[in-house]
Amino acid sequence: MRIGAIEAGGTKFVCGVGNERGSVEDWCSFPTEHPETTLAKVCDYFRDKGVDAIGIGSFGPIDLQPDSPTYGYITTTPKPDWSNCNVVGALKREFPVPFGWDTDVNAAALGEMTWGAAQGLDNCAYYTIGTGVGIGLIAGGKRVHGLLHPEGGHMRTRRHPKDRFAGICKYHGDCLEGLAAGPAIEARWQSPGSELPIDHLAWEIESFYIAESITTTILLHSPQKVILGGGVMQQDHLFPIIRKQVVQNLNGYVNMPETVRDIDRYIVPPGLGQRAGLCGALALGLEALEQAAAASSF
Ligand code: ADP
Ligand code: ZN
Repeated sequence: MRIGAIEAGGTKFVCGVGNERGSVEDWCSFPTEHPETTLAKVCDYFRDKGVDAIGIGSFGPIDLQPDSPTYGYITTTPKPDWSNCNVVGALKREFPVPFGWDTDVNAAALGEMTWGAAQGLDNCAYYTIGTGVGIGLIAGGKRVHGLLHPEGGHMRTRRHPKDRFAGICKYHGDCLEGLAAGPAIEARWQSPGSELPIDHLAWEIESFYIAESITTTILLHSPQKVILGGGVMQQDHLFPIIRKQVVQNLNGYVNMPETVRDIDRYIVPPGLGQRAGLCGALALGLEALEQAAAASSF
């Protein structure tokens, strides 16, 4: 079985081919340019691959309602040229196979549940803290969809007392993404996060905001595992600070072993490492193939 996977990011696209065991046999990556150019490169990549299905985990917001005329579109993104872009439609014309389609973070959450840190669980939260901030959610073994899909990266948090930065979200200013995404760190300190020393105030502030959001997610969604991925989380010294802050925030109210004694195994990096996004898309493609097979056997 050959499954195509596309991690459609605002900065770069990653395309790959893998199998039902989650192993990626081949992949390539290119920068996100104008949709026509980028989607043409995606088609070129898959043309000789003979895939049975394709899964796409995309930056958003995206349309997930199967009966909507704009199903498969990226909708209101501030990214130039990509708003109202029919991603699934453009690829379906070239590849008449089942398509899986969801947000990058919902896909990554599914990948982690299938092959990574959340295996055996049926409820988890997957954060990416990178160019943007997104939170993917699984509940009852299913990716959470509703009116749209969760957009937890745009929720506001309490302010860190030492932080006067206005925030850079184009829609909300100081939402979580506006305060804590990689570009927000860079704008606040005039230096990319990767160049700031680990004892810099930046990391106390960053951990504070991430911990605020995780606390809210625990109270609202009750995940069995919280997985933190994305470029900023390569600063792995943030993990112990975030865990300690979450325990303090909960203050014994959610008094489960996971949120106190076993917090080191509760808030964790992706089990699939840097491949979490691509494997998530692979898991979506696999799911689409299984659903198509089940529908045709009726
Ligand atoms: P994307 O969000 O496009 O999928 P990433 O998850 O790699 O890509 O996020 C890119 C963001 O993460 C950039 O803003 C970059 O400054 C930040 N970043 C990447 N590596 C690091 C690092 N080691 N430390 C801190 N920030 C980083
Ligand atoms: Zn926002």
